[in-house]
Amino acid sequence: MSLLDITDLTVTYSTDSGTVHAVNDVSFSIDEGVNYGLAGESGSGKSTLAEAVLGLLPSNGSVESGSIEFQGRDLTGLSERERRDVLWEDIAYIPQSAMDSLDPVMSTGAQIRQAIQTHRNVTDDKARSRVRELFEIVGLDPDRIDDYPHEFSGGMRQRVTIAMALALEPDLIIADEPTTGLDVIVQDKIIDKILEIQDRMDSSLLLITHEIGVIAETCDELSILYGGKAMEQGSVDNVLVNPTNPYTMGLKNSFPEIEEGDQDPVSIPGSPPNLSEAPGACVFKDRCPFATEECEASHPDLVDLPNRNHRSACHHVTKAAQMRRDATDPET
Ligand code: ATP
Ligand code: MG
Repeated sequence: MSLLDITDLTVTYSTDSGTVHAVNDVSFSIDEGVNYGLAGESGSGKSTLAEAVLGLLPSNGSVESGSIEFQGRDLTGLSERERRDVLWEDIAYIPQSAMDSLDPVMSTGAQIRQAIQTHRNVTDDKARSRVRELFEIVGLDPDRIDDYPHEFSGGMRQRVTIAMALALEPDLIIADEPTTGLDVIVQDKIIDKILEIQDRMDSSLLLITHEIGVIAETCDELSILYGGKAMEQGSVDNVLVNPTNPYTMGLKNSFPEIEEGDQDPVSIPGSPPNLSEAPGACVFKDRCPFATEECEASHPDLVDLPNRNHRSACHHVTKAAQMRRDATDPET
């Protein structure tokens, strides 16, 4: 049993124009103390997956099938109350654009205090001193706990949301694009801060981002999502250093900073799949240079590769990996 086990998870949204298959048959596990990355382009299903884990899907979204077990307990069957206890106590969530979700008419410290006192029976004074401590942990001046969100910069507001998420020392932190919209220097500081705190609290991390460079720097393992499907999974060293899936290769080329040598960024030509169509063909086939009739016929299974901790979903996994090696290593 891992800390979090996601098995064959399928999540859909019902809309006026039909069913959106946002997450399709995705499985992965996060062990204790592991930093796990979830990467993929916009619309690949990253936030949907996080919201499903947390039971925070919007009303038109539902978990169609699969299970989500946290410490062996299935989260999909929890009552509203039980879920609320798990959220905050065990799993902390830093939502996408969290810094914009702070209440503008309540001081930042009062918002954190409220989060603490909803779950713990502590006096106002105790809660206040805990907020001061949390401000210090995330690198904010504890004398500013009575300041309102608009009195802080974007990076500082993001630190406030991190302080709030950490208030009850969770076992798992789910951070959805925690650095998007912040300038690069602030981004690095925020990531360093999350890692430092997480190390100190001995918690695991599920880091969601479309920037695989950030995952390369901070995570041990990852899943690459595309069109709601897990395309490639495993250790960061395997997946990002030796990608076998054409989609991962394309994603890597569009983020050249983790490549050796000079390479211009190139984005993957084409646009994401229409998620309203019933899943059938490989979700990446329209943009894949290796696509054949087989790829039209079925989406490939995620299969184990010979090296440990590496799985890929591609009908042409061997050919694609070999072509990549040939292209990057002229000696072969
Ligand atoms: P981003 O990087 O832009 O945050 P994401 O990977 O987090 O993208 P999701 O927000 O999970 O992607 O969206 C996955 C798919 O589900 C997209 O096609 C999106 O349009 C669709 N979707 C998300 N929320 C809803 C909703 N409430 N109703 C209908 N479709 C939705
Ligand atoms: Mg998202």
